[in-house]
Amino acid sequence: MAVLGIDLGGTKTAGIIYHQGEVVERYLSTTDIASSETVIQGILSACASLLESARAHGVKVDSIGLGIAGFIDFERGVVTEAPNHPLHETPVRDILQESFDIPVAVDNDANVAALAEARLGAGKGSRYLVHLTLGTGIGGGIVIDGEVYRGAQGAAAELGHMIIDENGPICNCGARGCLEALASGVAIYKRVEELSWTKKRSPMLDEFRADPLSFRAEAVGRHASEGDGLALSILRDAGKHLGVGITSIINIFNPDAVTLSGGLLGCFPFMEEEMRMTIDGMAIPISRKHARILTTTLGEDGGTLGAALLALSAR
Ligand SMILES: [Zn+2]
Repeated sequence: MAVLGIDLGGTKTAGIIYHQGEVVERYLSTTDIASSETVIQGILSACASLLESARAHGVKVDSIGLGIAGFIDFERGVVTEAPNHPLHETPVRDILQESFDIPVAVDNDANVAALAEARLGAGKGSRYLVHLTLGTGIGGGIVIDGEVYRGAQGAAAELGHMIIDENGPICNCGARGCLEALASGVAIYKRVEELSWTKKRSPMLDEFRADPLSFRAEAVGRHASEGDGLALSILRDAGKHLGVGITSIINIFNPDAVTLSGGLLGCFPFMEEEMRMTIDGMAIPISRKHARILTTTLGEDGGTLGAALLALSAR
């Protein structure tokens, strides 16, 4: 018995075949976001390629799980809105089920990453886990006793859209001052951009001004490690906002683990101190005492492993 897991990101599509607790096949390609048709075609090609490899090795795949960055109606298997893809009200589950004639489950990418972290990763053994994916945006997932908490429509745990400052910067979702608008890759990029309009000088700003379109938020971590004071202060501010967000998570959920993953973890060493000081200073002590804050042990595999675990529940 094997399952297929796909992690559909804004830039790449990764997939695995998971069989008896092991990854036995891998797939990786760039995501073509030209239109919803090209995105769907990319998912179909990834699944077809992995199913073919599995067949060639005599492995029968029983179900497919998909993690997609965006707002997902889990009950209907529909991507309602995806900021990094042209998917809008797209019935991804039914399209795949009709193409391959096996059960399919579609969920938010951070929900499946949370599932992987709770069952296989840093949060293994925890009963009440909250996961945050720190990347271009900030995703969230909640796993209670090994199962994802999805809410009434399957759209719960949008922790990146927890409001930290109601008068803060506008977020992708249209609200103001969400955690994502203050501590994500996009937020960090925008802060560098704002500083680039001032007369301030620093190696980070020189790099940004030379080629703003190629600049990535992850570079702020590199500049911080090389002693750029502006880079360091941007990451400390982001760390403080993250700490405010995690304080609310701890106060609301009383989790035994808060796990973190994502492309922004390279910047995390410069965010961590402010984050921990903020949480220690503000969270309800009894909850704070028992909440371990951990970084992922699954590396970039969290998304595909989580999608494979989701597939197991689709059968
Ligand atoms: Zn938002």
